Amino acid sequence: MSDRPLLNRRLAGMGTTIFAEMSALATATGSINLGQGFPDTDGPREIAQAAADAVLSGRGNQYPPGPGIPELRAAVAEHQQRFHGLGYDPDTEVLVTAGATEALAAALLALLEPGDEVIAFEPFYDSYAACIAMAGATRVPLTLRAPSFRPDLDRLRALITPRTRLLLLNSPHNPTGMVLTGEELAVIAELAVEHDLLVVTDEVYEHLVFAPSTHRPLASFPGMRERTVCVSSAGKTFSFTGWKVGWVTGTPELVTAVRAAKQYLTYVSAGPFQYAVADALRLPDSYFADFRADLQRKRDLLASGLRAAGFEVYEPQGTYFITTDIAPFGETDAYAFCRELPARCGVVAIPNSVFYDDKEAGATQVRFTFCKRDSVLQEAVSRLQSLTP
Ligand SMILES: *Cc1c(COP(=O)(O)O)cnc(C)c1O
Repeated sequence: MSDRPLLNRRLAGMGTTIFAEMSALATATGSINLGQGFPDTDGPREIAQAAADAVLSGRGNQYPPGPGIPELRAAVAEHQQRFHGLGYDPDTEVLVTAGATEALAAALLALLEPGDEVIAFEPFYDSYAACIAMAGATRVPLTLRAPSFRPDLDRLRALITPRTRLLLLNSPHNPTGMVLTGEELAVIAELAVEHDLLVVTDEVYEHLVFAPSTHRPLASFPGMRERTVCVSSAGKTFSFTGWKVGWVTGTPELVTAVRAAKQYLTYVSAGPFQYAVADALRLPDSYFADFRADLQRKRDLLASGLRAAGFEVYEPQGTYFITTDIAPFGETDAYAFCRELPARCGVVAIPNSVFYDDKEAGATQVRFTFCKRDSVLQEAVSRLQSLTP
């Protein structure tokens, strides 16, 4: 074999996601895993039953239609109208995908030319850097800085060049928990229109926003509907992250472009689960309110425990993650800290530093998830008290 590296240059350095690495560490050490963001309690029983019924009654067991089953496309369109006042035609403006992950990949592969620049918040969700690279484009980070993680919109303006093609926006933002305000969204919308940019919005935490913050899709701002690919997914909202049912909404032109790439990635996926997610999207308002209230309570439980243990806590406005700073412990390297944490106290967390190009900005940030049972959070918190600042 030649000396040429097997992994191509575009993906160099992206060997294993940090989530796989830290989840393996959790298993190997028997630690409590507050690293990867998956709930340890499944979503609503009746939705699980709907998936089982679909399998057993032979709905979706063979290739579903390319754009997704009509029932789910209709439910996605209804949901966009019901929660955000956005009207989409289920036949031409909705596309079902294998989770938000595939929606994002397909959108970036479809819309970018090699050499295009993509502006995205850092810390990045880890698939962004990989997908931008696979599209041959260049990522341009807009760094979110502690303690507020608010985007510097003058800096955003300055980052836009003639090569900028697309803004990739994630709000509520993983890992920082930052939620864009109406004022910020309005400025971003004006910039996108002024510079004729496409926008892809990752809104998988649309229902996990804690008062007084609220989530508004960027597509609802003037001039944005025609240039925005709106991405969301059932995984986080309904606590079925293994089902991998996501979707895209946008104009027929945008959806057709995304579909051109998507059809050669998975073609279709999750047939029976699509029926169940259609039911889930039509759950009463009380489901969404209770889900949010429950997670808010868990956030407060974990935040106070982390504070008591000596972490600096940056309270999230949304998502199910808390970003902390380990500087109070005299620590300087989040990655090293996270590798040692299981041995020190039996808890796994994720170093945010790996999601930054600007290594300085996230050097001492560590992320914990709170989408776990109360007893698990309480045990994790009690173990963390053994760390001494
Ligand atoms: C979990 C997550 C995704 C992936 O969603 P799937 O539907 O599981 O593919 C995308 N973006 C962000 C910010 C996430 O946290």
